[in-house]
Amino acid sequence: MAETIFSRIVRGEIPCHRVYEDDRVLAFLDIGPLSRGHTLVIPKEPAETLDRLSDESAAALGRVLPRLVRAVMAATGAPACNVLQNNGRDAHQAVMHVHFHIIPKYPDGSGLGITWPAGRLDDEEGRRMAEAIRSRVAGD
Ligand code: 5GP
Repeated sequence: MAETIFSRIVRGEIPCHRVYEDDRVLAFLDIGPLSRGHTLVIPKEPAETLDRLSDESAAALGRVLPRLVRAVMAATGAPACNVLQNNGRDAHQAVMHVHFHIIPKYPDGSGLGITWPAGRLDDEEGRRMAEAIRSRVAGD
């Protein structure tokens, strides 16, 4: 995969406001925050998208994410937050290195704005889709 700015941040070639680091994970403040305290959590492994990430890095991220969410909310006083993870350019991913956004949501509305054009799941389509996903999870 192509080198990204996040690999350079992991190597310390580009500065960041670091909030957490271990063998597999780095967390730092987003340079273009949607709200105060907007934090990025990344694996050191340079996987482009979540589906390409190793189980080891995924486990390391999963272990520390709740702790980082607690820390961001405690430090900012935000009463709510969104955890966002974009995969692919069509899904708004700009930096092709897996990252989770922790975005505090404040009473003034600052934070992540979401449109959620919900449909209604058809029963037959639900049965087919669930089976299609189940069989792939089982075979992975
Ligand atoms: P994406 O749209 O890929 O999910 O989000 C990428 C995020 O990375 C953006 O919120 C952007 O502000 C942030 N970002 C891009 N370059 C840098 C950088 O050099 N330093 C930091 N701290 N954040 C960055």
